Amino acid sequence: MPIETTPNIWHNGDLIPWEKANIHVMSHVIHYGSSVFEGIRCYKQPEGGGVFRLTEHMQRLLDSAKIYRMELGYSLEQLTAAVVDVVEANGVVPCYIRPIAFRGYGEIGVNPIGCPMEIYIANFPWGKYVPGNDGADVCVSSWNRLAPNTMPSMAKAGANYMNSQLIRMEAGVNGYQEGIALDTNGYLSEGSGENLFLVRGGTLYTTPLANSVLSGITRDSILTLARQMGIPVVEQALPREMLYICDEAFFTGTAVEVTHLRSVDRILVGDGTIGPITKALHKAFFDIVNGLAPDRYNWLTPVKVREAVAV
Ligand code: PMP
Repeated sequence: MPIETTPNIWHNGDLIPWEKANIHVMSHVIHYGSSVFEGIRCYKQPEGGGVFRLTEHMQRLLDSAKIYRMELGYSLEQLTAAVVDVVEANGVVPCYIRPIAFRGYGEIGVNPIGCPMEIYIANFPWGKYVPGNDGADVCVSSWNRLAPNTMPSMAKAGANYMNSQLIRMEAGVNGYQEGIALDTNGYLSEGSGENLFLVRGGTLYTTPLANSVLSGITRDSILTLARQMGIPVVEQALPREMLYICDEAFFTGTAVEVTHLRSVDRILVGDGTIGPITKALHKAFFDIVNGLAPDRYNWLTPVKVREAVAV
C-alpha cells in the first residue's frame, strides 16, 4: 500500500515538510537496522480525534531506546506533546502515527556510540491492515520468532522486522494473510506484527512475554477489558495444537486492531465465524476507540483537527 503523504513531519523538535525528511545513505540505521519505533492509531471522535494510549506507546519507545542504550534527549511529556503537535498540524484523522528514533550519520563501525540520534514522527491516513471482516486465514510459519537473548523481543526495534518480513512474505506466497510464529522452544509466540489470543472452554489465553512476543498495547487493552468483563484470562505458554482445537482465535495490534482468525493451516477455527468472546471484546474495544462508550481507562488523548479524512 503506497504511503499517503501529509504536509509535516516532526524532526528533533521542529515540524519540517514531508519531502525534506531525508537521511544520508551512510547513516548507521541503514546498515545495521539501528532504530526503535512505534505505531499508534488516532481515531476519529465525535469532535476531533483521539490518540490511542499515547503515553503507553511513547513509554514503550523510551523503553526500546533504553534497551539499546539510545539517549533520545526528550522526556515522555515532550514526546507525547510532539505527537499531538504533528497530528494537529497535519489535520488528518483517522490516521496512523509512526514515531521513529534511529542512529544517524557519524560512525560506520558496528559500535554506534558517537552516531547522533534522530527522531522523526510522521502521521498519515491508513485503513484496515488485514482486509475484510470475515476473519483472517493464517498459517503457522516455518520461521521461528526471535530466540531469547538474541534480539530482545520487548524492544520494538526496526531490525526485529526482518524476522517479521520472513514470516509475512512466506504466508503471502503460500496464500495466507498472515503467519503465526513459534518461539525457539516450539511454543506459540505471535504473528509478524500482532499478538495472539485463543479462547477455549470460555477461558481467554494469550502467550506471555517470555515466549518472544512484543508487549502489545492492544494486548494489554484486551486483557484489561476481559478482566473487567469477568472473562477468565490466562497468560501461559501454549502448544501449537491449541490453534487447531480452540473455539476462537484472534490477533491484536495497532494495525489489525482486533481481527478474528477464520482458519489456521486451512483448519477452521470453531465454525470460522467470529466467536462470542471475540465479538464481545471486539465491541468493547471499538466502542471505546470510536467514542461510543465512555473512555473509562483514559485511553484517548484528544487532538484538535481541522478536517477529517476518510480511510
Ligand atoms: N507484535 C509485534 C511483533 C508487533 O509488531 C506488534 C505491533 N506493534 C504487536 C505485536 C502488537 O502491538 P501493539 O498492540 O502495541 O500494536
